[in-house]
Amino acid sequence: MDYTEKISHLAGLIKKSSYTLALTGAGISTESGIPDFRSPGTGLWTKFDPVKVATVSALKRDPAAFYEINLDRWTRFTGVEPNAAHYVLARLEREGLLRGVITQNIDGLHSKAGTKQLWEAHGHLRTCRCMDCEQRYPLDFLVNQFNKGTNPPLCENCGGVLRLDVVLFEDPLGEDFTGAVHAMDKCRLLIVVGSSLTVYPVAALPERAAQLAIVNKEPTPWDDRAAVVINEMAGRVLTDVLAALGKI
Ligand code: NAD
Ligand code: ZN
Repeated sequence: MDYTEKISHLAGLIKKSSYTLALTGAGISTESGIPDFRSPGTGLWTKFDPVKVATVSALKRDPAAFYEINLDRWTRFTGVEPNAAHYVLARLEREGLLRGVITQNIDGLHSKAGTKQLWEAHGHLRTCRCMDCEQRYPLDFLVNQFNKGTNPPLCENCGGVLRLDVVLFEDPLGEDFTGAVHAMDKCRLLIVVGSSLTVYPVAALPERAAQLAIVNKEPTPWDDRAAVVINEMAGRVLTDVLAALGKI
């Protein structure tokens, strides 16, 4: 199949499916200017190893060092805007053609683009919480302390150390992941967008889909199981799919 045939094939699968979900990863946000982990040259993984620095044990051992190393990388995401791919997924939901989005991203761009049914399997950057009393604060509460030189940032209720509401390595996955697993039980078509499908357990979710479509610049371990694989930029592909569905 050439590119145009693949686009109409994917549009046809979406039309026929009674329950479609999207599963997105860092690759859907690269066109917004946020680097992914594994793209050669630009991927964050090429610069340092998050498995070593973004862990619960690193945070507990030396919280000040944890924030020195990690905070800037996360707060750089604020002020970034969604791109065409995020907007098309939100539009498909409004059109009744998509039930929701499961994302591995913490950048908040799906909700900014208007997606309503969203499972953020790896957390988000809207809030932080106290590691002792669990009191929640907006993320700015933590960032402002750090910027004023209070490191580690502390809870004003009990003086405990604050942590971000992103899932760190060694953290259990939260209720959004459980919700995503339940939603997958009903899923007839899963459209993967911009994920290398190598970070578990999210990378096991495609197993639960009756049918699979993959939109990713590079091959993934699930390509053999997919009804259609499109190795092109997510923004272009999803815009073309929307047009093929007659919605542009
Ligand atoms: P990944 O970095 O492992 O894979 C991204 C994939 O997207 C790559 O295979 C790449 O070829 C593809 N890609 C890049 N740009 C693309 C584009 N414009 N169109 C189509 N495909 C494109 O990402 P992952 O599978 O999400 O796993 C990485 C982990 O890193 C996740 O757990 C995620 O939480 C975290 N992460 C999140 C962000 C974010 O929130 N934006 C950024 C970096 C890492
Ligand atoms: Zn507290």
